Amino acid sequence: MKILVSSCLLGEDVRYDGANSSIAYNPSFSFFTKELFMDILCENDIYSFCPEVSAGLGIPRVPAEIISEEKPFKVLSKDKKDVTINFLLGAKNTLELCQKEGIKVALLKSKSPSCGNENIYDGTFEGVLKKGQGLSAKLLSENNIKIFNETQLKQLDEYIKNYKI
Ligand code: SF4
Repeated sequence: MKILVSSCLLGEDVRYDGANSSIAYNPSFSFFTKELFMDILCENDIYSFCPEVSAGLGIPRVPAEIISEEKPFKVLSKDKKDVTINFLLGAKNTLELCQKEGIKVALLKSKSPSCGNENIYDGTFEGVLKKGQGLSAKLLSENNIKIFNETQLKQLDEYIKNYKI
């Protein structure tokens, strides 16, 4: 099955701080989780993608949080620059790739203002989470692309095994 995966989860140094969120090398993940992740990578067609980098944001970059997750969207960087257009463009790029390649499922990094599928930071830059989706995750969901994050690998695995075209 074709799966879109956040590049940072695959170990690519694309995060705002120039680091990655590798599942394979994260000491807080169990061996079982890492093994499951590797099985998923080996048994499926993986499309690595970073919405923010695709939209021209550099590495490293100033962290950003969503101020408004509904229209009119608003995303500000910590130094108060309006980066909304970059985040919207990143979401559009992500959806376009999925539509072009027929990708119906994504494994995205949790809590990110682009990729988060359940929680995002609340816009205060105080490390406070709230319910919500990153802008790329939101656009994919609205277009019937199923999203999991790195803490939901078992659910992703079950979804893949039960998926019927
Ligand atoms: S935009 Fe997504 S893929 Fe890119 S660094 Fe952030 S969480 Fe990872």
